[in-house]
Amino acid sequence: MVRVSTLSPQDQVYFRDLVRRTRITYESLRILLIREEDRAEGLGLLTRRSRADLKAAALMTDRELWLNRDKRIIGPIPGINIGDIYFFRMELCVIGLHGQRAEELKVNPLSVRPSGYLSLDMSMGKENFPVSLFNDIDEDRDPLLFEYVARPVYPPGLREKVFGDWGCGCECVTNCTVDCRCAKMNGGDLPYDKNGILARGKPVVYECGSTCKCPLSCPNRVSQRGLKNRLEVFRSQETGWGVRSLDLIRAGSFICEFSGIVLTKQQADVLTANGECLVCPNRFPGRWVEWGDITDVFPDYRPPNLPSLPEPSFSIDVSRARNVACYMSHSCSPNVFVQFVLYDHYNVAYPHLMIFALENIPPLRELSLDYGMVDEWVGKLTM
Ligand SMILES: [Zn+2]
Ligand SMILES: [Zn+2]
Ligand SMILES: [Zn+2]
Repeated sequence: MVRVSTLSPQDQVYFRDLVRRTRITYESLRILLIREEDRAEGLGLLTRRSRADLKAAALMTDRELWLNRDKRIIGPIPGINIGDIYFFRMELCVIGLHGQRAEELKVNPLSVRPSGYLSLDMSMGKENFPVSLFNDIDEDRDPLLFEYVARPVYPPGLREKVFGDWGCGCECVTNCTVDCRCAKMNGGDLPYDKNGILARGKPVVYECGSTCKCPLSCPNRVSQRGLKNRLEVFRSQETGWGVRSLDLIRAGSFICEFSGIVLTKQQADVLTANGECLVCPNRFPGRWVEWGDITDVFPDYRPPNLPSLPEPSFSIDVSRARNVACYMSHSCSPNVFVQFVLYDHYNVAYPHLMIFALENIPPLRELSLDYGMVDEWVGKLTM
């Protein structure tokens, strides 16, 4: 038995990242295995369902991807934080928590809610769920000064340009399936499972849109339906304003969209010169490749061939109007990522910036996004 008590900050970051990567591989693999069985079932080829949680763990042990296999650690385990959530016993085994007593892992952060609300819904009813604003450490009330916009706003002139390309939607009258036109645009498969979980990150996801005949309940309409969780903008000593969820967020779930006023590149260049707050889509590193990446387990695995896209040519001005996404902190080990999505138009130069979970995120854990900065916790792009 070993006790790991003195880790340097660098070691802590290293182990946290190792655990994070292992968990992303496990979840990606489990979801892929379920999708393969769903597909086989659709074709009438499935005799019996298997346990994807066990199978994923077995595939990872074959490749020696389990952590802490060779030692039994007592006390804190490097890279594991209190409040981390696990749904499968095998996931605990994969990251080396199998020896831990269950009571030690059970922490309900919602049981310790303090007071300090500045608003119970800063979106003023514009989102599906209220977005609370919380600060119990200082007098800062800045987020109340901005207009809240739940969706990107296209100024007149730009709207016609962006929405000029309507594409042609599918003809499905019921929920879409793998043989529909929209599934083909996504490389021959629907991008989400029946629970709305994104199967893997892609250069762009084509959701069904206004020209499709399918209902709003179609499984290929996920991010366009808006928030699914109660989010909170909160003030902290370490990161200034940040965002957390009051609910558990499952890995691969949609969280929120980056909103503000959409500008062309030329308009953005003028504003940058004036020092305005802009969010530039090209700035986000392509973290979507991590979601659904199972090459640690199958080194020869090649994701379906997807056409690469031209770089987006717009920016979002968040100096006057913005939404909850603008308050997300930067991290080099993020737990959420930006996925480009098209649905209300098919102009690839102006995709929606949709944010999805890279991990299972417990309630009250801060959401963090990679803004393409070098240092950890250097603050938000828009603060
Ligand atoms: Zn369809
Ligand atoms: Zn559809
Ligand atoms: Zn469609």
